[in-house]
Amino acid sequence: MSRFFSTDYRALTPYTPGEQPRIQNLIKLNTNESPFPPSPKAKEYAKAAAENLQLYSDPTAKRLHEVLAAHLGVKPDEVLATNGSDEILNFAFMAFCDKEHPAAFADLTYGFYPVFADLNGIPYTEIPLSEDFTIRKSDYLRINKTIFIANPNAPTGILLPKRDVEEIIASNPDSVVVVDEAYVDFGGESCVDLIHKYDNLLVTQTFSKSRSMAGARLGFGVGCKSLIADLNTIKYSTNPYNVNAMTMAAGIGALEDEEYTRANCQTIIENRTWAADEMRKLGFFVTDSKTNFLFAKHETVSGETVYSELRARGILVRHFTLERIRDFNRITVGSRAQMEALVGALAEITKGAAQ
Ligand code: PMP
Repeated sequence: MSRFFSTDYRALTPYTPGEQPRIQNLIKLNTNESPFPPSPKAKEYAKAAAENLQLYSDPTAKRLHEVLAAHLGVKPDEVLATNGSDEILNFAFMAFCDKEHPAAFADLTYGFYPVFADLNGIPYTEIPLSEDFTIRKSDYLRINKTIFIANPNAPTGILLPKRDVEEIIASNPDSVVVVDEAYVDFGGESCVDLIHKYDNLLVTQTFSKSRSMAGARLGFGVGCKSLIADLNTIKYSTNPYNVNAMTMAAGIGALEDEEYTRANCQTIIENRTWAADEMRKLGFFVTDSKTNFLFAKHETVSGETVYSELRARGILVRHFTLERIRDFNRITVGSRAQMEALVGALAEITKGAAQ
């Protein structure tokens, strides 16, 4: 730390992204990326946009917002595209939380939420998940806090039924509820249609997972016009050109290739079911994931051993050191070949372990 670093940020513990090693032949199942390349049109449009990189990108993201809004069944002024959904989440912390409006989120959820809260000097409450890692709806009713719910949740993969999310939104009419639907395309039920019923709902989604565009950095928020206007105030006060021209073009291409995305999601769901079944046969407890990852713990082999033994075999997964989940690993669902390699390695690792 330099002696110049602001006292406001000295105590900040930044978010730790998953490793991005450039090791050949590594089976990378640690950051929930897609095993498939971006759609043909996404690549084609991004290439064409590269021809005009001497120009600033459109700060209003007009075309992307129109295509995205049509895709979601909302109006263009009800969406806002951002640099990954991390950016819209940070904007939401900035726009809708302060000392009088603290944040609330689960104790086991996306690790960036507490970082965004700390960054912006926002007090927050972490609400413990139940024993079985589900969100207890009753803990979120009438709490008058700005609520962040990842649905399905990460790293657990578990979905909170839409009717429960709606009850939470309805019971907190004077607070914003942010529903982070980063993984919704793998079996979740979106709350986007509820934005016309509740003016306190912001839904966020991303192109990083189901649309194979993690490296392009494209996310978005959907909410009523006035919420989106507030988020635009934050955007124009930080970075008006937050989405670059190639990414905007790629996003439009991906939306035009929706069939491609649907087919890939279906394959991931099939691979998830297959891998989870195989892992259960090997003595793993695997949560009922509705995402593109599995959250699993073995009945006898420790989470750390599973992680390091997989790593020694060229398979990278995400291990967490938090006490409550230290025996779990979060494993991205990849291609069938990757899942077969994973299951083969896990069979070796758990062989001989007392069953
Ligand atoms: N929300 C959740 C629950 C996530 O797991 C992630 C991925 N790390 C994000 C949001 C952010 O994803 P991105 O910024 O790539 O859109």
